[in-house]
Amino acid sequence: MDLYSGHINRLIDELAALPGIGAKSAQRLAFHMINMPKEKVERLAKSIVEAKENVRYCKECYTLTDQELCPVCSNHKRDHGTIMVVENTRDLAAYEKTGKYMGVYHVLHGAISPMLGIGPNDIRLKELMSRLEGDVEEVIVATNSSLEGETTAMYIGKLIKPSGIRVTRIASGVPVGGDLEYIDEVTLLRALEGRTEL
Ligand code: ZN
Repeated sequence: MDLYSGHINRLIDELAALPGIGAKSAQRLAFHMINMPKEKVERLAKSIVEAKENVRYCKECYTLTDQELCPVCSNHKRDHGTIMVVENTRDLAAYEKTGKYMGVYHVLHGAISPMLGIGPNDIRLKELMSRLEGDVEEVIVATNSSLEGETTAMYIGKLIKPSGIRVTRIASGVPVGGDLEYIDEVTLLRALEGRTEL
């Protein structure tokens, strides 16, 4: 049942494959794009390709950035002895928005999930452990309060404790299953202040 031209169908299929975009939204976006001025479409396409080509992982904390070191890691005013472990770059951005956290981060890019077959080796845990060979006083585990986030926090706690480095977990004032990025700044700061030993 080919209602549209092959090109439109292809565009709809590509858009529908993106997270959070259903068939209806994909159609709406596709038709919106077809009706956009050509320069605007080219700018959009270019920004996607350029982002893909230029964005890389910070060699220290593994967040997504344009430089070898992200702005946080390259800032000497930040406390490099305190590392907050988050699941993804969006969570890092949520804490950065509060403007109150002065330490640095470590981005795992996922969480341990036996159900989905994601183990400790599938996230950036080894990279975190090798950072601990430096001068680190505290590791704050700020993974989400989902089952996967809690599993990951427990695992990290067990892994780090023998080293004698203080390892804490943000308070669970964060709604269960809640993604850090959707939580307001006050709640984030309260969770950070109320952190407990792991
Ligand atoms: Zn960094």
